[in-house]
Amino acid sequence: MQRPLVQTQCLQTQFLQTHFMQTPPMQTATDILDTFESLGWKANDPMAQTLQLRAHDPKALGGLVVQALDRELKHATFIDAALDLMDDDSYFAAVHAAWQRALQGARSDMLCEVLDSAALQYPDVFASDWNAYLHAVHAGEGGPEYLADQAWRALDATTSADWCATLEDDVSDGALGRTRAIALLRSRRPQAVQQAWLRLFPTPDALAQSWLHLAGYASHDGGLRALHSERPLHIGFSASQRKLMLADQPAWRRDVQKAHPTWNASATPVSQARMGGLLPSICGHCHAPLHRLLSMNDPAVAGIASATPLDFATCLSCQGWHIDGAMFYRHDAEGAPHAHPSQRQQAASAPDYVADALLDADVQLFTAPSRWAWQDWGQSNATQNLNRVGGAPSWVQSADYPACPDCQQDMNFVMQLDSGLPQADGGQWLWGSGGCNYTFWCAGCRVSGHLWQCT
Ligand SMILES: [Zn+2]
Ligand SMILES: [Zn+2]
Repeated sequence: MQRPLVQTQCLQTQFLQTHFMQTPPMQTATDILDTFESLGWKANDPMAQTLQLRAHDPKALGGLVVQALDRELKHATFIDAALDLMDDDSYFAAVHAAWQRALQGARSDMLCEVLDSAALQYPDVFASDWNAYLHAVHAGEGGPEYLADQAWRALDATTSADWCATLEDDVSDGALGRTRAIALLRSRRPQAVQQAWLRLFPTPDALAQSWLHLAGYASHDGGLRALHSERPLHIGFSASQRKLMLADQPAWRRDVQKAHPTWNASATPVSQARMGGLLPSICGHCHAPLHRLLSMNDPAVAGIASATPLDFATCLSCQGWHIDGAMFYRHDAEGAPHAHPSQRQQAASAPDYVADALLDADVQLFTAPSRWAWQDWGQSNATQNLNRVGGAPSWVQSADYPACPDCQQDMNFVMQLDSGLPQADGGQWLWGSGGCNYTFWCAGCRVSGHLWQCT
């Protein structure tokens, strides 16, 4: 039977309207910024426009950010997305343009955001003039902001040696000498780190320890020991995991994640691993089977000192709720974890909430482009993949390396898992209110430890 003509027309109009709404006309970088300046986020979606611009012409994102540098924009999170999603060449050009403006005395919120991003992703941009960067950081307001100290890891040997020679200068609060000493402390050059640390903190008290932990080191045999490696492997999730992880996300975040280099194992994976499910070992507190976090056949490829495979696992029901501080496990010759004797109790205690296991899945470990070797939990804004093995931790709170319960030495950071991991029951696991879990390893004692932080 033929449909009445009027209904067909209605359907056509409906189709056209829907189609039109899904694909608004392409806006240029200038259009996007002009519209945002006049309308803000009201009746305007600069994030969708930015993603559309990228799909049409990826190089245009560079122009968008460079143009934004000369405008006063507030809450322009679409600029963060543009920075994250642009190719390396466009990115280097954009942060270089920002740094040149800063050198010429320009100051703006947008400039701060771009320089913060550069401190994490491409600190070499400041190598053109480390002294100028030092003065900008020291001056504080309007210059490089809260991620500034991340940039010092790129400090070169000559500058670092020159600055070490000035450590006799005043390092009291507010002195330039203090900012310079902190720069050396965060330089990833162990000798410079140690000299600066001893100068800043002559007494090895708790405050001194916390600053050394923040720099990623522990004092050891009169020298320093690095508490994490330099380059992480990112965890590449299976299609079934990704589907569940993306299900509840707003459309813009789904689109950003789909395009983000940290989520997409484009290169050949370095190694395979397995996530989720239950292990035969039991929790020392509730006596339920442990929840597998990650099993690796060859942890050494991820910089973890173990000649055997390793199963990292914990009790999701008890960790952080019924045990103060980290939960520890001794690993046997096969790499299987067993609740540490100090955290084993005779009678099982019922947890307040029984957590379901993470979804059992094969995952890949891959090397993301070098821009993503260091990531910040706050700046990621749940768009980047923070699930990593090795590299530097992205702390939610302050740095916290637990002491090994067997040898009392500070443990090495080896893995972090973000919130939103898919569970076997279809849920998504949150660490506390949506934080991040950190895994540590003592190679000598073959002990692992896990703790989570949230806001
Ligand atoms: Zn338990
Ligand atoms: Zn130990």
